[in-house]
Amino acid sequence: MNRRQLQTLYRQLLSQYGPQHWWPADTPFEVMVGAILTQNTAWTNVERAIGNLKRENLLNPELLARCPKAHLADFLRPSGYFNIKADRLKQFCGWYVEMGGYERLKFHSTQGLRHRLLTVKGIGPETADDILLYAFDRAVFVIDAYTRRLLSRLGWIKGDEPYDTLRLGIERALGRNVKQYNEFHALIVKHAKDLCQPKPLCRGCALNAWCMGANRESAQK
Ligand code: SF4
Repeated sequence: MNRRQLQTLYRQLLSQYGPQHWWPADTPFEVMVGAILTQNTAWTNVERAIGNLKRENLLNPELLARCPKAHLADFLRPSGYFNIKADRLKQFCGWYVEMGGYERLKFHSTQGLRHRLLTVKGIGPETADDILLYAFDRAVFVIDAYTRRLLSRLGWIKGDEPYDTLRLGIERALGRNVKQYNEFHALIVKHAKDLCQPKPLCRGCALNAWCMGANRESAQK
């Protein structure tokens, strides 16, 4: 996987789908809440849970940290795993308030902030990197299951590489570019949902000609 391949993929996806305008949120804090709630569920479910928090005027780190877990779990019910997510969100908000919120955290280096985020219970590399890229505008490439699926079908990775091996490999190849990382990850998610699904719809996929995993028989039908 090299710079030329990745840039070609980026241009192709961008011309196919256009800018995605991620992350869909009104504030950096809402991005963080969404990044935690989107673990193991579809985005539409997260939107419903965030809608509940907004309706209750609870989308605030101090209030969420203090909210009784059972109440919070009830508001988060649409996002699935709501008891676990209530725990994680409360843990995160407690940490966030203790660290001084966005106004203090924004002064940390990217590596320092990443390291601190990963100390919070329930925050793994993907969630930390969603927060770094989309809430703090840091040049960190997000690796998720969609990225692994697409890049392994293209024949560029095996698919089971450690998270940071893939992240650092892509960052090295592309160079630091927050705007492009933001758009590229969003485009990969869009492509994986629209065409490169678990059962891929290769017919009509613009990557078909050079994708190692393309189902060319179906493409010719
Ligand atoms: S050709 Fe098929 S497998 Fe390859 S990227 Fe497109 S949809 Fe995915």
